[in-house]
Amino acid sequence: MSRTNIPSRIIRRVWGMKVAAAFMSIAFLACFKARVDAQPKPISDLDTTIILIAIDGFRYDYFEKYRPTTINSIAASGVRAKWMTPAFPTKTFPNFYTVATGLYPANHGLVENNVWDFGTVFSMSKREEVENSRWWLGEPIWVTAENNNIISAAMFYPGTEAAVKGVRPTFWNRYDHDKPINERVEQVLAWLDMPREKRPRMITLYFHHIDSAGHDHGPNAPQTREAVLRVDAGIKRLVDGLKTRKIYGKANLIVFSDHGMAEVDRRKVTMVDEFVDLDDSAQILWTYEFLQIFPKEGKTSKLMDGLNRMPHSRCWQKDDIPARFHYKHGQRVAPIICSIDEGRIFSSRERYAGLIKRGGIDKQYGGHGYDNELESMRAMFVGQGAKFKRRRVTEPFPNVDVYELMCEIFGITPAPNDGDIKRVRSMLR
Ligand code: AMP
Ligand code: ZN
Ligand code: ZN
Repeated sequence: MSRTNIPSRIIRRVWGMKVAAAFMSIAFLACFKARVDAQPKPISDLDTTIILIAIDGFRYDYFEKYRPTTINSIAASGVRAKWMTPAFPTKTFPNFYTVATGLYPANHGLVENNVWDFGTVFSMSKREEVENSRWWLGEPIWVTAENNNIISAAMFYPGTEAAVKGVRPTFWNRYDHDKPINERVEQVLAWLDMPREKRPRMITLYFHHIDSAGHDHGPNAPQTREAVLRVDAGIKRLVDGLKTRKIYGKANLIVFSDHGMAEVDRRKVTMVDEFVDLDDSAQILWTYEFLQIFPKEGKTSKLMDGLNRMPHSRCWQKDDIPARFHYKHGQRVAPIICSIDEGRIFSSRERYAGLIKRGGIDKQYGGHGYDNELESMRAMFVGQGAKFKRRRVTEPFPNVDVYELMCEIFGITPAPNDGDIKRVRSMLR
């Protein structure tokens, strides 16, 4: 059949099909190219980098207790401390900022999650205070880094949202509790994908999930296991991202926690106002585990008489706080502090009635803020990457030592601090 015999509508249809096919293959190629472009490229020019992975409330024994595969494999290939001793009080802001500065809470100003100064109370829910530099003393690692021309970036970390000594991390994020784990990880990977001149080398990455589950259900609950595995999956995503970029084992990963978690029975309550007249204090900053009391003029000894009669707890006037807490010399440390036995809580009749009304006593809970030498309060530390020795388990050390360790990794001079590099240098190659 000659071409001239083919009806013109058939020719038109064949041509239409050819054009459509051509368009489809162009579209396919464009799509394929986009996929190829989205594949991260290997990073061949990585300078010394630290990714500081801050896991809130990961108790030192969760490695074995919950077997998080990725965290355990990082630990196995790098250096793992038997545990890391948190600073007193074993609360979140004091400890993360101790790791960042190498200073005890008394010396870096965040003496608790709540702090009384400037005639006002700092708390982590007060945005304007969290971002106000007046609370944050000392020199955190990202400031030391920036001052040494090392770009820093924070995917959340207490202190990174304020200009400390006039310096913020080049990249920082306002705390968003609901930001999904994977988005936090992707942000870190996106920073690493930046060109060398802009690429941050001191990076923080924070996860609250294990602490939250630990509080709500206790350290032994299935929900806490689930949170450990969820954070572990996030860290796997990070490790996979580092592997595709060919920098796993080159970037220095520091995976650590701020404190552990104790099982708490809220029916074991010490009711403070059964022993003292709360009106004798100008201010009390309450937590379940730790109290800061600011007596009214002339009321100190009356208050102390009552507080000393409370069961299961110890109260000290500032001068008498045991030296091992490294706490008493802080300007913001309250005139009286009280610490309660593990697993119990402080409350007042009014506060406790509110708690009962909210249905908040009749199950297992978890808590921290207790004596920092308790086993349940122990934090964890893992270091892995170019600068760390491989396959080591080291003796425990206090968390004030991490700041100088990070300075040593970068080869920069640390600001004055309470740590001692001699206790931790042997972790490095
Ligand atoms: P804690 O009450 O001591 O258990 O503290 C843990 C809580 O700290 C987490 O659940 C977060 O909500 C909170 N947190 C952690 N980082 C920040 C931050 N940068 N700003 C405000 N809150 C934070
Ligand atoms: Zn915490
Ligand atoms: Zn907590």
